Amino acid sequence: MTVANAIGEPCVLLKLGEIVLKGKNRHQFEQRLQSNIRKAVASTGFRIDLWQRSGVIVVRVPGGTPEEVETVARRLEDVMGIVIVHRVWRVAKTVEATTQAALDVVAQHPLTATGGSFAVRARRRDKRFPVTSSDLGTSIGSEINVKFGLPVNLKRPAITVSIEVDRDEVFVYTDGPLGQGGLPVGSSGRGLVLMSGGIDSPVAAYRMMRRGLRVDFLHFSGMPFTGPESIYKAYALVRELDKFQGDSRLYVVPFGKAQQQIKSAGDDRLAIIAQRRLMLKTAEIVAERRRGGALITGDSLGQVASQTLVNMTALDDAVDLPILRPLVGMDKSEIMDQARRIATLSISELPDEDCCSILAPRRPETAAKIADLRQIEKRLDAEELAEQLADSVQEHRPVYGSD
Ligand code: ATP
Ligand code: MG
Repeated sequence: MTVANAIGEPCVLLKLGEIVLKGKNRHQFEQRLQSNIRKAVASTGFRIDLWQRSGVIVVRVPGGTPEEVETVARRLEDVMGIVIVHRVWRVAKTVEATTQAALDVVAQHPLTATGGSFAVRARRRDKRFPVTSSDLGTSIGSEINVKFGLPVNLKRPAITVSIEVDRDEVFVYTDGPLGQGGLPVGSSGRGLVLMSGGIDSPVAAYRMMRRGLRVDFLHFSGMPFTGPESIYKAYALVRELDKFQGDSRLYVVPFGKAQQQIKSAGDDRLAIIAQRRLMLKTAEIVAERRRGGALITGDSLGQVASQTLVNMTALDDAVDLPILRPLVGMDKSEIMDQARRIATLSISELPDEDCCSILAPRRPETAAKIADLRQIEKRLDAEELAEQLADSVQEHRPVYGSD
């Protein structure tokens, strides 16, 4: 094998999570993940080789420098379905090369200078390798101990040196950062996210992408009675979330006139729920045109007056498609933490004029009656209105990393 420098070749080793638990259709999940990896890395401009091994994927950047491999590894931290993104040395399948790489990995580790404890974890995917895992671990451990004077701690080491003997080579590495986990985007089908400019809906989108849904986005703006700011926000949010799936679509509906009609068609206190039902009916039509099988919202039980159990039931009644609410059991602070981690929080916190403010009543109904809502919808001809709104969508394609 060719090695890029004295230690070996820098590569990325991806640990897969739940995919490994899949039975018969595991192969399909692996194929999907590989294709998602290739698409994500394509945006970095580097050419890669992918090798599927049992439970792991090896990503090589042929001829790549450690910095270039690092760029690829960073991009892979956003790809759903990967649990850990290890930066590894790929070395020749000999005890000498493996030991040399292990010593080097420890020399470069930031905790080595502070005298941190260590452990060596060796395993053989290829049992033909002449040295057993435990012998390999012991001999490399003692070399590290002699050279750096670090104490061994098998239970809670500060530094873990991992050695994996594979079919054609050995991989040597220390702990890598966590990936996103979950399932590859697209392996669970497609859904449509109702995307406000708020904090919750981007997090809801993220959580469903992580469960393998590919999502489209639908935003209702108060235009022509509000400015375009909420559209800019929705666009910026989708552009950020695009890092998790690629090829994202944002549909925007000018909703101001429909809101005025709702206002004049009925009870002020029901207006918010009536408008949410009209959003859902419109979303259902847009989703079906995209072959989407679910609608996704950022509702969290009890967070605001419109998100009571009774009101959620009244919303479910408006459409046939299932409404997925991944945040239903989360606290606001948990949602905000997640929004910060996925880098949408600062965008959501930008000022805008939410379309809902057009008709926010002082005291919204917390127990909307379905019969009353249906009455309002009859006066509105809501089904026809939803068709018109769905026909009026404008499509945008926000791309992660673009201006
Ligand atoms: P968010 O932070 O997502 O805006 P919120 O706590 O402000 O949520 P609501 O305004 O009651 O709650 O909205 C609940 C859900 O309804 C949102 O999470 C979103 O899925 C959907 N929604 C609300 N407004 C819009 C909009 N203008 N366009 C698209 N979807 C919307
Ligand atoms: Mg909102």
